[in-house]
Amino acid sequence: MTDTGTYDGAGERWDDSFDVAVVGYGYAGAIAAIEASDAGSSVLLLEKMPDPGGISICSGGNVRTADDADEALAYLKETAAGTTPDDVLAVLAQGMTEVPAYFERLAKASGAGVARREAPGNYPFPGIDTFAYYYIDSVPEFDPAARYPHVNSYLPIHRAAGVRLFKVMEDNIEQRDIAVWLESPARRLLTGKDGSVRGVIVDTPSGTRRIRARQGVVLASGGFEANQEMQRQWWQEKPVLTAAFLGSTGDGIRMAQAVGADLWHMWLFHGTYGFRHPDPDYPYGIRMKRLPDWVPGRPPRADVKMPWIVVDQNGRRYMNEYPPYLQDTSHRNMATYDPQTQRYPRIPSWIVLDDEGRGTYPLCSPTFNDRGLSFEYTPENLRALEDRIVRQAGTIEEVAREIGADSTVLESTVSRWNALVEDGQDADHGRPPPSMLPIRTPPFHFAPVWPICSNTHGGPVHDAKQRVIDAYGEPIPRLYAAGELGGVFGHLYLAGGNMAECFIGGWISGREAGSLERWE
Ligand SMILES: Cc1cc2nc3c(=O)[nH]c(=O)nc-3n(C[C@H](O)[C@H](O)[C@H](O)COP(=O)(O)OP(=O)(O)OC[C@H]3O[C@@H](n4cnc5c(N)ncnc54)[C@H](O)[C@@H]3O)c2cc1C
Repeated sequence: MTDTGTYDGAGERWDDSFDVAVVGYGYAGAIAAIEASDAGSSVLLLEKMPDPGGISICSGGNVRTADDADEALAYLKETAAGTTPDDVLAVLAQGMTEVPAYFERLAKASGAGVARREAPGNYPFPGIDTFAYYYIDSVPEFDPAARYPHVNSYLPIHRAAGVRLFKVMEDNIEQRDIAVWLESPARRLLTGKDGSVRGVIVDTPSGTRRIRARQGVVLASGGFEANQEMQRQWWQEKPVLTAAFLGSTGDGIRMAQAVGADLWHMWLFHGTYGFRHPDPDYPYGIRMKRLPDWVPGRPPRADVKMPWIVVDQNGRRYMNEYPPYLQDTSHRNMATYDPQTQRYPRIPSWIVLDDEGRGTYPLCSPTFNDRGLSFEYTPENLRALEDRIVRQAGTIEEVAREIGADSTVLESTVSRWNALVEDGQDADHGRPPPSMLPIRTPPFHFAPVWPICSNTHGGPVHDAKQRVIDAYGEPIPRLYAAGELGGVFGHLYLAGGNMAECFIGGWISGREAGSLERWE
């Protein structure tokens, strides 16, 4: 029999009871669970995959902090462009000033070292210089490769701060009396006749269970990076490849929708361009190497080189391949649809580089949290992977033939590019001059590149208390959202902002749920 997801009263069967149920064990779910537990609630932390960590464990581990809440708010307002109410942004801005102290507190559980790195915001908006990053820089007696053999961050794992932060989260969860159920996807929310959320239906390895949540449910189940159907419906450009984690299938968005939630920011995803893995059994895109961000109007770093240009299927260059924040906006240029040819002429696009450029550094950075996959992050392994993707040809004419472009167009694109490099200015698309390298020395190298989604921002609307809001602007009683699920960014992203949302949304939702009267 299909469970309708309604709870009709005392006659109904409950299999288990907790005060707070948290759906999803990434950073946001972990912090919500910690805070609800510290508020005195009994907590169930549900994770659908065999291993916790979600996308969080693959991340760079950089959490955005701010020295001044007013300045941070001024900046965040610009990034939201009116898509998020000021009071929601104000809470995030204030929270960013509290993250450092919270970080220190969490780190104690593992004896971990906390570090601060100066880092302005990404765009020249008011408040840009109030920001920094916090991250975990050391965890004693922790061998990341042994503990998380199924994880590949975009750095060699021993250098990955995201993995270290997740270890700290796990240590905090283990220190508390929090029930953790793995391989236990939440399927439906259960609501009472008054519309308040009363519990959740969960598939566990030993069968389906109806969980009573006496105080509330926190949805912290991430985004929809791996849900192709949702992407087809919400995003203009197609296809988009996911960068990191197959567990993000938008389950929390669906569950919230089913109880009346409004949605926001569904169109916006964080991403870049990159390769499709050559093995069809490996369903990920591979992001390009992470290059440092730069701020328009400030001098770019002289030592950062980018050896490729990106051209469309006609052989034309159409964008700055190295925009201020490569992982934020570069993919947006690929979304153009051509009604005359009825195709997306920029999906895939092609990178083209020469032999000297190919020798500069490995081009890509594979990332995953997935049993059955492993990748030792060495330059040799990266080269071997790339050799299965990147092809070569003796002349630009030959490259054009291989990619199906007109050779005169591609040849003129490359000679124009070389002239711009010689001039030391990208008069066409404004790429930072130090990053420009000529494309002259054969053989030439080329590969298709696709829009790659690192993580999504859309999901249920929430208010400043992280309460999920329905389509008429009312909070859905006892339902909270945290982290990437319904994130606040609706226009541009602030690097490190996702994890700031995991922390701040996590602690607010956990504390709020944990402070409610039990409905029973
Ligand atoms: C390569 C990479 C680097 C990044 N670096 C940074 C960075 O340095 N700083 C930053 O701020 N952001 C970064 N991000 C983004 C950031 O990592 C994510 O936005 C953030 O970690 C999301 O955390 P979360 O807890 O909301 O979701 P997740 O970490 O994805 O956790 C959600 C969990 O919910 C589980 N789940 C899903 N559905 C269900 C269900 N039905 N029942 C039970 N469980 C379910 C999932 O399996 C998952 O484990 C990066 C992203 C990528 C891909």
